[in-house]
Amino acid sequence: MTRTWVVPVSAIVIGMVLTGPSSAQEPAGDVAVHDGGAKVSRATWECTPGHEVRKHRITLDSGAVRYTFMVSGCLDPSHGDQHPCNEGTFGMPDPSLANWYWGGFMKVLVNGTNATLYQAEEPRVLETGARGLIQIVWAHPAADVGLRLMMLPAGNHVLAELVWRPRADAAVETVALRLTCYPSFFTTARQRTGERHCRTPRVDMAEGQPLKLVPGEDAWLYYYDRVFDVANGEGDGPCAVLLDPSAVTAGSVSIGGYAVTTAVDLDPEAGRTRLALYDFTGLSNADAGEYMEQHAADDQARLAEMDFRPGPVRGLDVAEFTAEVTGLLAAAAEDGEALKPQVDELLARMAELKPAADEGDWTAEADLAELLLRSPDILWKLKAFAVLNRQ
Ligand SMILES: [Zn+2]
Repeated sequence: MTRTWVVPVSAIVIGMVLTGPSSAQEPAGDVAVHDGGAKVSRATWECTPGHEVRKHRITLDSGAVRYTFMVSGCLDPSHGDQHPCNEGTFGMPDPSLANWYWGGFMKVLVNGTNATLYQAEEPRVLETGARGLIQIVWAHPAADVGLRLMMLPAGNHVLAELVWRPRADAAVETVALRLTCYPSFFTTARQRTGERHCRTPRVDMAEGQPLKLVPGEDAWLYYYDRVFDVANGEGDGPCAVLLDPSAVTAGSVSIGGYAVTTAVDLDPEAGRTRLALYDFTGLSNADAGEYMEQHAADDQARLAEMDFRPGPVRGLDVAEFTAEVTGLLAAAAEDGEALKPQVDELLARMAELKPAADEGDWTAEADLAELLLRSPDILWKLKAFAVLNRQ
């Protein structure tokens, strides 16, 4: 199933009861989300030939650049509760196959095992329009691990929030990230030799040298290749990541001639961290490096302040909403009676989901956001009846 989401979610829910409907036309400068849906095929390179492999692609398009994420995994029961895939289970195929690796660029190690190997909920679209926001939740045996990915209009990077919620009967003792990139070009695979570097606000390290991160100072990591520079007509352009220093306890970067692997240890008690991912496809090393120097601090401040809750939920005051809807129902008089069962069901479901959402259950929060997005029809009917009955 392929869907393109162009539902503007600004000015929705409470406001929509009292004000006019938002325009059906997507205003310029909005973020679109394209959900490519899940596809199941026979494994060739992904796993044992003949096993069935599932892949789900979803794209955030800021208008300036598109980032595609891919959740992959083998469905064969021989793997137990894991869903492995040879090139990784969570990848970023756009804007470049290189840079943040298309097959798998991120592992979230909980107690040493990768959460993205486990069952993932279908990626969910939480917002389009003024922001593009999607969510993926993996069922690690010790914790639900959720990732929200956001783009802003004309944005060049993806803002991410990662959370881990320990299960009632489990303890989360360690949490770590492993990020894999191939800056600008797949050197070894194409029989070429590059000159990889990783630069932070503090140091610039060449490949082969160990880079131990200083959490408070190495707020961003910029990965580039001096040979594969767009300025020389070579490669796709560099990439970068911005970290949340408050949750990082230690880290290191292994700058290989092919893959560059970044290991980040997180405070398991923090329960969450944030990061921003940059793929500078099309930019020269000089331009991308300058971007990080000039804008990383602002980007980090925005990331720290960002509210990652879905728009309809952010604006929701259940008591106010209930009072307004109940008032409209009364004003709609006899015309409202046919709608009462639907309204009651909406309010009951909302009351059921809200406490779980407030407690940090992302699945409940996404369910609540969808419920609110689906409710305008009935609220508009109610409002129309209320107006008719006032005359
Ligand atoms: Zn398999």
